Amino acid sequence: MPELPEITVIARQMNKEITGKHIQDAEVRQPKNLNVTVREFVQTVKGKTVNNVSSKGKWIIIELDPDYFVFINLGMNADVLYFEPNQEPPEKYQFKLIFSDETGFTIHFQWFGYIHLVSERNLSQHKLTARLAISPTDTKFTSKHFKELLANRKARIKNFLLNQKNVAGIGNVYIQDILFKAKIHPNRKISTLCEKEVNDLYNAIRNILNRSIKLGGLVYEKDFYGQKGKLTIDKFLVGYKTGKPCPTCETPIIKIKTGSTSSYICPKCQPLK
Ligand SMILES: [Zn+2]
Repeated sequence: MPELPEITVIARQMNKEITGKHIQDAEVRQPKNLNVTVREFVQTVKGKTVNNVSSKGKWIIIELDPDYFVFINLGMNADVLYFEPNQEPPEKYQFKLIFSDETGFTIHFQWFGYIHLVSERNLSQHKLTARLAISPTDTKFTSKHFKELLANRKARIKNFLLNQKNVAGIGNVYIQDILFKAKIHPNRKISTLCEKEVNDLYNAIRNILNRSIKLGGLVYEKDFYGQKGKLTIDKFLVGYKTGKPCPTCETPIIKIKTGSTSSYICPKCQPLK
């Protein structure tokens, strides 16, 4: 499942490649991905220019000129692939956008995803994105912001960080190494974290996510050009490494159940105080 690093990588490549281009046509093969009718979608986007592409949490945001936004959520997994005039687009896709220079991109959802068209004045009414929290890669995600976010909270730290209304973009892959790096057990209650632990956690979030972005994301996710990321499982610290030695103390890593998710921890480095 793509998390913040993979989405960031694709959105940055899209921004570089399609900003300034004019939309010539759109093809929608699976109308249920949309929040409007196919007809309304195609008629609205046709002739508009891409102003910017960015991301927030697990959403890719295409800003159109004038006055519209296309929000894309890749769901469990999807390929967003760029094509040039001399390239055949892939056979399988549910959505295709074509620009006036005959380049374009396709989206192939493995399960389900969203392509939502929202006008600028209705932005605050788009329920899926209006309440999304700040992404850790955003300049507004400062250590002060993070401390305020955790103040007076009673939840367990892992559940809290996975909730997209608190922090946008972290899922069950990256959370493992984030908590390990900060030496915090996933079931710790937020109220028990000391100031140093909160600081370590803030730095770990930034560090783990930015490292993955630099590597182009996870090895089993493709970028806008169809290239796989360079973050392989052997580069994880504890995630998916049951039985392997902890990189710090060599204690075997264990897999535990934490609510509805699994966690990989070093029982010695991440004690449940
Ligand atoms: Zn350890």
